[in-house]
Order: sequence, then structure tokens, then C-alpha cells
Amino acid sequence: MALDFPPFEPGTVWLVGAGPGDPGLVSLLAVHALEHADHVVHDALVDSRIVAMAHPGAVIESMGKRGGHASPRQGAINARLIELARAGKRVLRLKGGDPFVFGRGAEEALALAEADIRFRVVPGVTAGIGGLAYAGIPATARDCNSSLAFVTGHGQDGDVPDGFDWDGLARGAQVLVFYMALRQLDRVVERLLAAGRPADEPAAVVSKAATPQQSVLETTLGRLVEDLAAHPVDPPALLVVGGVAGLRRQLDWWSPA
Ligand code: SAH
Repeated sequence: MALDFPPFEPGTVWLVGAGPGDPGLVSLLAVHALEHADHVVHDALVDSRIVAMAHPGAVIESMGKRGGHASPRQGAINARLIELARAGKRVLRLKGGDPFVFGRGAEEALALAEADIRFRVVPGVTAGIGGLAYAGIPATARDCNSSLAFVTGHGQDGDVPDGFDWDGLARGAQVLVFYMALRQLDRVVERLLAAGRPADEPAAVVSKAATPQQSVLETTLGRLVEDLAAHPVDPPALLVVGGVAGLRRQLDWWSPA
């Protein structure tokens, strides 16, 4: 393939999205970065098959957040990226999904900018779009929604943000996609119902999307907590609320290889 890729310069950091799981969803620029990086710093969400695509001489380091588990502080990750770049390495910071969607990529890029280290961002397929697609749930469908909101179930302090305008959210977007929602799921559901979302609205919890362990719980907002207690799922998982979740009945196309 005669594509002109930008050179991966020593002393620079590439912040690269690895997508939700399936290695086939990794971009050509991400593959280029994997082939040329001296040092790969990946977070816990990145599929091991993708990390394994790195150049055999590359140093591989796992450094990332994982809800509920001990994980390095963000400051330590930023400092490590800066240290490696200053040592003249080609540093690949590999993150699950898209680096700029709830992935602390912005914080890392800001730290690099402040330290005067050149960086490039390679967007990835975010779980809230590509992961849902693997569950047969389109992000938008003409008959269902003309708006879509991505929401995090964790605030700065690791909790559902209390200062959040739940009424505004419930009215403001027809489809709501929650990242990191599992631990706070009952509170999220309670607040959405209190804010007027109907109990019979389709909802789904998509776990380990686009991986061989993908599982999907199809339910309604009113039954969600009870159904999930009966059929627990593993993180990482997304919660989607809105008409598009009901389309899975017809659009469930994917089955693990
Ligand atoms: N930057 C990532 C999101 C990081 S936040 C992205 O763009 O996708 C971590 C959250 O993302 C998880 O708690 C979960 O809600 C979601 N997530 C990431 N990968 C997932 C997957 N394969 N299946 C389901 N949810 C996933």
C-alpha cells in the first residue's frame, strides 16, 4: 500500500486509539505507530492482540486506569510519557477506544504540551459507537433519534456527578450512552426515571463489546436493575438508553469467531 505516513520522530509521543477490542478496527496510522514505536505505554483496556502487533524490539509497558483496581495516578503516567520522550524515544501511548473520549487523553496531551513535547493524536473507534455497532445497536437511526449524548457514570471523584443536570440530560438527547456506568447503574437509572424517561424505553448493557467475550443484556429502563441483578455482566460495559437499543432485535449481526 503506497500510503505516505508521517514519520514517527524520536522524542515525540503519539496518543493512539486502539478501538473497542477487535484488532481489525485499528487504524492504519495506529499500525504504523505500532511498527515504529520504541516504547509502547498501553492502558488496561487495550486488547492484548493489538499490543502484540508492536515491533518486536519495542518495550511494552502497561500503565492505565481500571475502575475498581489499583492503578497508577494520572500524574505518574504523564510524567512517564514526558520522561520517555525526553530520553529520545518514539513513545506510543495506546489507549482503548478513542484517546479523547473519557480516556484522559486530553490530560496527557495537555501535560505534553506544557512540557513542550511534540505529539500527534490518532483517533480510534470509540466504544460508544463501534462497540454498540457490534451489539447491533446503531448510534442513530432516522426513526429513533436526531441527538445522542455520551455521558460518564463517574465524576472527578469516581461517582455519578451529583451536580449533574439530570432533567436537562433526560430531555436533551433521545439516546444516552453511558460509559463507566456499571458501578453506579442503579443510581443512573433512578435519576433518569425521576427525570421523566419512560420505564418502557428500550435499554441495553453491552459488555466487552467487539471482543470474543461480548455479551449484551437487552431490557427496558424500568427492568434494567432487576434484569442485571439476574444476569450480571463484567466490565468494561456501556449502558445505552433509547429507541436504538430496541433495533438490536433485528440488527444483531455479530457473533464471536
Ligand atoms: N476511550 C475509551 C473510553 C475509556 S473509559 C473509548 O473511547 O471507548 C472506559 C469505559 O469505556 C468503560 O467503563 C466502558 O464503559 C467503555 N468501554 C471501553 N471499551 C469497551 C468495550 N470493549 N465494551 C464495552 N464498553 C467499553
